[in-house]
Amino acid sequence: MRRLLVLGSGTAGTMAVNKLRPRLSPDEWQITVVDSGDTHYYQPGYLFIPFGIYRPDEVAKPSRRFIPAGVDRVIGEIDLVEPERDVVRLTDGTQLPYDYLIIATGTTPRPDQTEGMVEGMAAGTVHEFYTYPGAVALAEKLKGWEGGRLVVQIVEMPIKCPVAPLEFTFLADAFFTEQGLRDRVDLTYVTPLEGAFTKPVSSRYLGSMLEERKVALEPDFMLERINPEGRTLVSYDEREIGYDLLVTVPINMGADYIARSGLGNELNYVPVDRGTLLSRAHDNIFAVGDASDIPASKAGSVAHFSMEMFPENFTRHVAGLKMAHQFDGHANCFIETGHGKGLLIDFNYETEPLPGKYPLPGVGPFSLLKETEMNHWGKVLFRWLYWNVLLPGKDLPVPALMSMAGKERKDA
Ligand SMILES: Cc1cc2nc3c(=O)[nH]c(=O)nc-3n(C[C@H](O)[C@H](O)[C@H](O)COP(=O)(O)OP(=O)(O)OC[C@H]3O[C@@H](n4cnc5c(N)ncnc54)[C@H](O)[C@@H]3O)c2cc1C
Repeated sequence: MRRLLVLGSGTAGTMAVNKLRPRLSPDEWQITVVDSGDTHYYQPGYLFIPFGIYRPDEVAKPSRRFIPAGVDRVIGEIDLVEPERDVVRLTDGTQLPYDYLIIATGTTPRPDQTEGMVEGMAAGTVHEFYTYPGAVALAEKLKGWEGGRLVVQIVEMPIKCPVAPLEFTFLADAFFTEQGLRDRVDLTYVTPLEGAFTKPVSSRYLGSMLEERKVALEPDFMLERINPEGRTLVSYDEREIGYDLLVTVPINMGADYIARSGLGNELNYVPVDRGTLLSRAHDNIFAVGDASDIPASKAGSVAHFSMEMFPENFTRHVAGLKMAHQFDGHANCFIETGHGKGLLIDFNYETEPLPGKYPLPGVGPFSLLKETEMNHWGKVLFRWLYWNVLLPGKDLPVPALMSMAGKERKDA
């Protein structure tokens, strides 16, 4: 019997076991998945909780519903991987041997990595929406907030769903407008990037959307520390930005056990081949989803598109054959922009987000880099697709690799 051990039953780990179980004979392969928790969270939904658009219970379901029959589940905290012994140890002392290991433990916001952030959170003036408790606490805060300086800020890239802080800003503008409070809220967007977003074309589009909404943009801001008493952000080049309410995206890092096991880079991401997701150091370890160091967005869509080709690569690799597919870093993200509209971006390792139509050239129905109601409905529909199509490992009728069909290059 060969043993496949999957670490993490979030988006990527759950898709992996659903896609691999039917391909690996139960007579030959035992599959086990380990996670510290028993609840599966739909993380894109965290964005909507602070504004009362989603209730907290709408983004959480028991994990067991999504793990197929024939896959063993272990609930426990991973403590260490010993690649030279092919064993994973849990904090309760359990040892789990493996022949093949898939690391899918994602990335986590780490307020402890920035001076003053934990203290600011304890004081109730610094908040975040990248975790379930964080999003719920921010909803409570916004309910009673009467206005002032609201700063939305990213400490450092990469972060998962890099457009989420922009979406939060657009939704905050719409929320305060609808509450009749907008003229009492001074909104600032603070980023370590040189513009609103990473790549020139989308940065220009998204930057002008901030301007239209009278959101001040503070680019190139490398945060050194937060001064929780004075309520200021201080950068390495000694710029200071004052806030009454700070909504921050803390540094995102891979799990600490990855560092302890000698498997990660400086942010605890596992170095892998960007086309196959095979570890560069170990021939029987893969890293999928946010846990790897591939230079793609850390996004559920990347986990999904890469999972379209990963299972066949995996089965070929364990059979001693050359892997057949090369992942291209394909990502797409709906960007909620408020008042029932949204934007869509579609890109990969090489091609930046461009305007156009998706998935059908000229037809859409979704528009790239353009605010439309249809894009908003795409985002709304995505939650249903997530629970019912993507997580169970079913196929979506859109190509896994990015296509230039429908994209307009003239704006580049
Ligand atoms: C606010 C927000 C908005 C987002 N919006 C979008 C969006 O619109 N579109 C999009 O595509 N993506 C979006 N994302 C990103 C998306 O949710 C992630 O990229 C995706 O969940 C990554 O999947 P993963 O399996 O790699 O990690 P996760 O889904 O995070 O799963 C990791 C799992 O590992 C487990 N784990 C971690 N460490 C340990 C340990 N030591 N021991 C045991 N278990 C452990 C965790 O409990 C978790 O279940 C958003 C994320 C956030 C936070």
